[in-house]
Amino acid sequence: MPDVVVIGGGVVGTMAAWQLAEAGAEVALLERGALASGATSKSQGLVLPPDHAELVPLWRESIAMYARLHDAGAEFCFDREAPIGTLLLARHEGQLSGLAGAPVAGEMLDGAGVAAAEPALVDGMAGGLLIEEGRRTDPGALAAAAAEAAAEAGADVRTRVEVKRLGAAAVVTDEGRIPCGQVLVAAGAWTRRLGHALGVDLPIRPVRGWLALLAPGPPILRHAIHEAAYEPTPDPTPARPVSLERLALGTLARNGADAAHALGIHQNADGTVLVGASRSAALHEGPESADALRANAAHACELIPGLAGREVTAAWTGLRPFSEDGLPYIGRLDERTVVCAGHGSEGILTGGGSARLASELLLGRAPFTDPAAFDPTRRRA
Ligand SMILES: Cc1cc2nc3c(=O)[nH]c(=O)nc-3n(C[C@H](O)[C@H](O)[C@H](O)COP(=O)(O)OP(=O)(O)OC[C@H]3O[C@@H](n4cnc5c(N)ncnc54)[C@H](O)[C@@H]3O)c2cc1C
Repeated sequence: MPDVVVIGGGVVGTMAAWQLAEAGAEVALLERGALASGATSKSQGLVLPPDHAELVPLWRESIAMYARLHDAGAEFCFDREAPIGTLLLARHEGQLSGLAGAPVAGEMLDGAGVAAAEPALVDGMAGGLLIEEGRRTDPGALAAAAAEAAAEAGADVRTRVEVKRLGAAAVVTDEGRIPCGQVLVAAGAWTRRLGHALGVDLPIRPVRGWLALLAPGPPILRHAIHEAAYEPTPDPTPARPVSLERLALGTLARNGADAAHALGIHQNADGTVLVGASRSAALHEGPESADALRANAAHACELIPGLAGREVTAAWTGLRPFSEDGLPYIGRLDERTVVCAGHGSEGILTGGGSARLASELLLGRAPFTDPAAFDPTRRRA
């Protein structure tokens, strides 16, 4: 009987399985699809400085863990030695205030400074914050590497096994009941329904994002660029639940929810470029409307005209697991269940550290950082 069943094979579940198995626990990881088939492989894979000061310890630990995997020979792209850096971009004056509160220090740039830092951007940007940190990963391969490390440390990693319900002393799955000592719920945007069996309603809402991948081309971007704010503001998506009444109006069911946009773009070492970003409330996994993808493309063409002629080789959509306040839920739901989910747009950059913290809670060890800010019982006032 496993000591711990980990539900979910995204970056969080695989990293946790690795940590737990390495600490000597008997671990079974259950993933309903392929490894990383949720938000993880759909993400842009950037390990940028986080938006919230509370996340800084999780982010720093994640970088250390990814470096450790990389150094052990795991094959995933990672800017191990030299971060490409992050340009937080203020397109207009109204976005400048969004740069002031960034929890990781950087160099404030005016419009001319932005033009010098990223010559591919159109002239006329209001300013930016240039931060030395900012690393690229290929997140599917990162999760696969963590799963491999977990298996090497003795974990039983199973794909195509769905957990249907959290039972009293077991999890109920496609393969029957699996008795276990403890459970780690790391099911990303699908966590909320699993919690209901425990009488817990964790307000994790799926927020859709779209990305387009451009064919390899000559170097054009120097940093990971992220616009300081999504617009229209306030970003309606994580904060505004879909009510039955709103669904009944019809436009949402027909077209999906309206999206907010912020340029989020970077060039990979292989010359490909990933173009985002959008946020819209999601009701189901299938693509509800590709209009947000169109708007992402229009925004990128306007701000980086030199990319307009490049071939789009793929586009996809994924569901980010958003909490109400932008911080993940990491902590105990009851004496045998720990949750680690709700990482929103920051699950790659905090996934490793979050997994370590959840593993320490499961193992009864002193946590490497204070988990209070991530208490799963907190609710927005
Ligand atoms: C377009 C886009 C761009 C993004 N860009 C970035 C970025 O650049 N940097 C960053 O830090 N973050 C980014 N994110 C966010 C990041 O991808 C997520 O925060 C992160 O992947 C969450 O990881 P997770 O392991 O919690 O969830 P997931 O990766 O979604 O994993 C959860 C897993 O649980 C499985 N599962 C669900 N229910 C069950 C069940 N009942 N039984 C078994 N398995 C189950 C799912 O199949 C899934 O594989 C982006 C997200 C999107 C969509």
